[in-house]
Formats: sequence, C-alpha cells, structure tokens
Amino acid sequence: MTCRELVDFLFDYTADDLEPDAKAEFERHLSRCPPCLAYVRSYEATINACKAARDHVIELADVPEELIQAILAARRAQAGR
Ligand SMILES: [Zn+2]
Repeated sequence: MTCRELVDFLFDYTADDLEPDAKAEFERHLSRCPPCLAYVRSYEATINACKAARDHVIELADVPEELIQAILAARRAQAGR
C-alpha cells in the first residue's frame, strides 16, 4: 500500500468499514510510515472533536487551517475514486 492509497482508505478505516485484508495492509503501512501515522492520528482527533461537538460547542478556530485543508483533500480523493 502506498501513502496515496492509505489516504483513500482513511475514511473507511476510521469508520471501521475496511475488509480485514485491507485493514491489515493499512496498519502495516502505518507501522513503518511515521508521516502517515501522524496524519491518521490528527484525522482521528478531528473526528473525535466533531463527535464531541454534538454534545459540546467547540471553538472551530482551534482547528488548524492546514488540518482542515488536509481533510478536505482526503474527502476529494475519496469522492474521485
Ligand atoms: Zn505512508
């Protein structure tokens, strides 16, 4: 799995919607690719923040602009698959 493919799988991974084989590939890539691991961590943190926002109002200004752009880019990659 390449870094680009990992991004394509990210949404399904965080939704726990990957096939077992794909999930194993995904986690194998993460174990040896620190940049992707950091990316997934920040993505998950944002998702958790969004879930928390259902119960608590959070300051959107606390989310770094570059993280928002990265997520939007990942969504576009997902939609273009
Ligand atoms: Zn990678």
